[in-house]
Amino acid sequence: MDFELSEERKILQSTAYKFAQNEFGPIAKDCDREEKYPREIWQKACEAGLVGVIVPEEYGGPGAGFFELALITEQLSRVDLGLGLVVVAATFGAENILFFGTEDQKKKYLPPLVDGRAICAGAFTEPNAGTDVAGIKTRAVKDGNEYVINGSKMFITNGTICDFMVVFCVTNPDEEKIHRRHSMILVEADRNGITRNKIKGKMGIRASDTAEIIFEDVRVPRENLIGSEGKGFYQLMHFFDCTRTMVAAQGVGLAQGALDKTVQYVKERHVFGKPLAMNQAVQFQLAEMATRIELARNITYKAAWKVDRGQVDPTLNAMAKYYAGETAVWVADKALQLHGGYGYIDEYDVQRFYRDAKILEIYEGAKEAEKITIARRLI
Ligand SMILES: Cc1cc2nc3c(=O)[nH]c(=O)nc-3n(C[C@H](O)[C@H](O)[C@H](O)COP(=O)(O)OP(=O)(O)OC[C@H]3O[C@@H](n4cnc5c(N)ncnc54)[C@H](O)[C@@H]3O)c2cc1C
Repeated sequence: MDFELSEERKILQSTAYKFAQNEFGPIAKDCDREEKYPREIWQKACEAGLVGVIVPEEYGGPGAGFFELALITEQLSRVDLGLGLVVVAATFGAENILFFGTEDQKKKYLPPLVDGRAICAGAFTEPNAGTDVAGIKTRAVKDGNEYVINGSKMFITNGTICDFMVVFCVTNPDEEKIHRRHSMILVEADRNGITRNKIKGKMGIRASDTAEIIFEDVRVPRENLIGSEGKGFYQLMHFFDCTRTMVAAQGVGLAQGALDKTVQYVKERHVFGKPLAMNQAVQFQLAEMATRIELARNITYKAAWKVDRGQVDPTLNAMAKYYAGETAVWVADKALQLHGGYGYIDEYDVQRFYRDAKILEIYEGAKEAEKITIARRLI
């Protein structure tokens, strides 16, 4: 077993970190305060080769894997989670086209994601169905050569700024088994009947666009079906099993960024005539933070490595996402505490990390959903 990263991967890691330091550093505070989605960051990231890295060469990408995506995500999230999402979530949902799409769909929709012409969204959650995703109500009804879609989606990342979205719909409501009733349908954002409302007032990741999307008699050609009709639920589970490694990497990166800032702070801050860092109780906390981060990193890398080897392991991926998310929340809490009163004001970044971290225990499967997956395997 070789735990050493190749030179190529080390370069990718440092490229992503430098990009985040240069591009995110100066604007992170403003984007957070103003809930501003900075489109220019996404464009620069496309030029830097950081967007769509898992897209194969024949569709315009570099053909890297989920491991490389995890490395990039970690380094971007280390500087700012919300801005990291502007980059790595620009293709969110499109993995389904790669996994299950036709050759024509891949040729048409994947290259624009890599070269900065299009942004994707994955629209699965609804106002009344998140964890229980099979309980969604959005209907796609066949009418001649088209599907007619009615329903609404909630909390959709890139919802107001995406060019197309992968929408999880009920197409076969009469199937006895609930998990055979769904399909994935690609919907271009400029189709008639779509209303997109930005959700404001998020606690964290405020640079990332989040929206409610309403579909009223939205017509799309039947060739927009992704994969097989009635197999959408199983496709979605496979998609989550793979992309959870990316969310786990967000947790590792955020936690590392919070620790970086804390180490610097406790060396500079003096209490009782000596640096805060000279207190053993403080050192123990730093040691615990670093240890948990290293564990989260190892399980995340292993999960992504297995995805790339075609050995997708839902239990391991659920463990990685749950543990890395919880680590991010735990580390950000410790980091803020060690900053004292300064941690509580927005002049210091650590309070943003604290607010941003919480989403990692909620989206792409609340941590309870991950634990259900893990326990199911055990029992
Ligand atoms: C900022 C943001 C971005 C998002 N981006 C996207 C996106 O791009 N696409 C998309 O489709 N969705 C997205 N989501 C939605 C997200 O995935 C859901 O919010 C999440 O899956 C939880 O669903 P819910 O909010 O309906 O909570 P519920 O399903 O109502 O659950 C509420 C809480 O109950 C607990 N819980 C639920 N079920 C169980 C159970 N069986 N056992 C024990 N406890 C349980 C959990 O703690 C959970 O947090 C986003 C959400 C946010 C906030």
